[in-house]
Amino acid sequence: MCIGVVIVHINVAQIRRDENGTAHFDLKEDFSAFESELEGVDFVAPVHVQLQVNNTGKSLIVNGSIETELKAQCGLCLEPFHYQIHQDYEDEWVFAPQATKEQLETALVFHKDEIELTERILEQIVLALPMRFICSSECQGLCPVCGVNLNATSCACSQDKVDPRFAALANWPRED
Ligand SMILES: [Zn+2]
Ligand SMILES: [Zn+2]
Repeated sequence: MCIGVVIVHINVAQIRRDENGTAHFDLKEDFSAFESELEGVDFVAPVHVQLQVNNTGKSLIVNGSIETELKAQCGLCLEPFHYQIHQDYEDEWVFAPQATKEQLETALVFHKDEIELTERILEQIVLALPMRFICSSECQGLCPVCGVNLNATSCACSQDKVDPRFAALANWPRED
């Protein structure tokens, strides 16, 4: 499959030569081309990436945040809803000729001043996804018997369930 529509890159030519310096990057990119990699979610907003890059002299230490909004399906009621992503992350970027053995394994190693971040950002979005999307902590889900959405309507089957707090009352002798 051919993606490659989105290439997020930033230029570190200045900051990597500016020891003890700080640089900020702020980008908004359309990631909808990657929906196929995220299984069942759609992007309903651009991906907003903010990065603060500090040059320590040994590497670039990055503090970043990634925000976007997805449309997902609730795992309980099966209705689509909007899900906010806000993922903070830290990263270390090191220029290849200066990389130590350890950095080669843990850091993002770059070879030229243009750093390509698409994969890095996608990884963070995947990390921010829940195991299961739930539209609200109050979601009632579907009736296991007839399948209606209990957030929107009730059904005869759900009325059979007696709230345990009222079970004692149900046994109360009736005056007929
Ligand atoms: Zn739901
Ligand atoms: Zn039902």
